[in-house]
Amino acid sequence: MSETPERYDIVVAGAGYVGLATAVAIADAAPGLRLLVVDAAPDGAWRRDGRASAIAAAAIRMLDRLGVWDGIADGAQPITEMIVTDSKTADVVRPVFLTFGGEASPGEPFAHMMPNVALNGALRARAEALGVAIRGGTTVTGYDEGPASIEIHLAGSGGGHLAGGETVEARLLIACDGVRSKIRDMAGIRTVHTDYGQSGIVCTVAHERPHNGRAEEHFLPSGPFAILPLKGNRSSLVWTEPTREAERLVSGDDLVFELELEQRFGHKLGRITVEGGKRAFPLGLTIARDFVKPRVALAGDAAHGIHPIAGQGLNLGFK
Ligand SMILES: Cc1cc2nc3c(=O)[nH]c(=O)nc-3n(C[C@H](O)[C@H](O)[C@H](O)COP(=O)(O)OP(=O)(O)OC[C@H]3O[C@@H](n4cnc5c(N)ncnc54)[C@H](O)[C@@H]3O)c2cc1C
Repeated sequence: MSETPERYDIVVAGAGYVGLATAVAIADAAPGLRLLVVDAAPDGAWRRDGRASAIAAAAIRMLDRLGVWDGIADGAQPITEMIVTDSKTADVVRPVFLTFGGEASPGEPFAHMMPNVALNGALRARAEALGVAIRGGTTVTGYDEGPASIEIHLAGSGGGHLAGGETVEARLLIACDGVRSKIRDMAGIRTVHTDYGQSGIVCTVAHERPHNGRAEEHFLPSGPFAILPLKGNRSSLVWTEPTREAERLVSGDDLVFELELEQRFGHKLGRITVEGGKRAFPLGLTIARDFVKPRVALAGDAAHGIHPIAGQGLNLGFK
């Protein structure tokens, strides 16, 4: 005789920012519900994400309302000004096409740069405080939808508590499993997809002089090059190149990478040093044709993956 599956009200697949924020928002609004969040990545893998994200004022208000922002606000760098230009960073005369300055409301900058690891950690802590169960190393491999519930098949993907397989039952499965969502495929939801043929190289640089909270977006011939201020004399970069060139740069010699970077970054913030690792993310547009199917809903990048040019992907997911 087979074991009775453990029952939840809602299972969230994916403990990224959107999956965790969704679980926190539901647990906060309906404390009686049983929630489970599973993530394919091993327990603790999220601690190795060295990136940072631009979080807009509206998303910060939401995080604040959910009790997540206060504990991490000190680690966030306010963006007080943003310039958009097609001049090179080293050009002496640099025409600026567009500037954004000021505040969303008095005393409230229009965005902050937040280290991903701090945001993910705070969302996890809040979810657990609200009684949400979180399991790493656990992949949703399939589901069977019935008239009153959905059976969700889980498999241990290493680095978690589940060695083999398990089935749990829920009333709703929320797929927050990212832009290459397998659950979207399982639900038979097709997408509109464009591959931009470019990748965004992400890394952090330390520099001698302060950035004064200024973000810059340079439209270089190979693609946008964004300099985003972090706490202290540090900035996060999103440097767009054709995918093959991006792969060559991140997998090649560190010295070559720094020289290429210096040419684009310029010298106005003094000497720069690359901190930590560098990674290239292939860029594309993926929009699901449906966001819901019976007992399954998509959220975040699983529903809509967009170009990072304006730093809106995660912000859109939070909405
Ligand atoms: C270079 C770059 C820079 C960016 N900068 C910004 C920015 O500044 N601001 C901004 O708002 N957005 C930014 N974005 C976009 C942002 O990173 C994404 O929108 C955001 O990460 C989406 O979150 P998510 O939770 O939907 O998905 P993800 O963060 O992709 O999380 C998906 C999770 O699902 C898990 N998973 C996958 N399959 C399964 C499965 N079958 N079962 C269980 N778990 C599974 C994965 O392990 C993962 O943890 C940027 C994107 C890129 C590429």
